[in-house]
Amino acid sequence: MTHMKAHLRDESHTNALGVSLARALLPGLSIHLHGDLGAGKTALTRALLHAAGHAGTVKSPTYTLSEPYRVTLDGQPVDVIHYDLYRMGSPEEFLDTGFREDFDGHNICIVEWPEKAEGVLPPPDLRVTLSVAGDGRDVELQAFSALGLSCLQRLHF
Ligand code: ADP
Ligand code: MG
Repeated sequence: MTHMKAHLRDESHTNALGVSLARALLPGLSIHLHGDLGAGKTALTRALLHAAGHAGTVKSPTYTLSEPYRVTLDGQPVDVIHYDLYRMGSPEEFLDTGFREDFDGHNICIVEWPEKAEGVLPPPDLRVTLSVAGDGRDVELQAFSALGLSCLQRLHF
């Protein structure tokens, strides 16, 4: 399965997808989240981080652009780094801040507004596209690498 689509009727379904994704995470995974403002990118990431064991709040890192969370995956510590690049001025900023070094094959990187770093952002293993559909959301998940494929195959949703 390289591709999956679902309808998320309400926020509880977005949360359920976040929980499923947390269980399917693999070290080094890079996930790009596409979708308009309010599509549910942060809501999905929040549910994922809470399910991965982070107990505190999860806000979109609107001003800091990135926020790391240390979680435990199969007994090993892993940093899940959440980016919100909406306010990034230019793709060069992504390089200047050293963000590219975060994509080291071990950290799990979740990127809102990947379009803002086009050309400098490493390609995703998994692309998640959220869109408003009626009162709910449509979601599409696409794998672009063997790692992304493994994640989709581990995803029970
Ligand atoms: P984004 O990060 O994409 O800008 P947010 O996650 O901040 O969006 O906001 C998403 C909004 O949509 C929140 O108000 C949330 O309650 C709501 N929401 C999330 N999932 C669903 C869903 N499946 N159906 C309806 N509303 C949803
Ligand atoms: Mg957001």
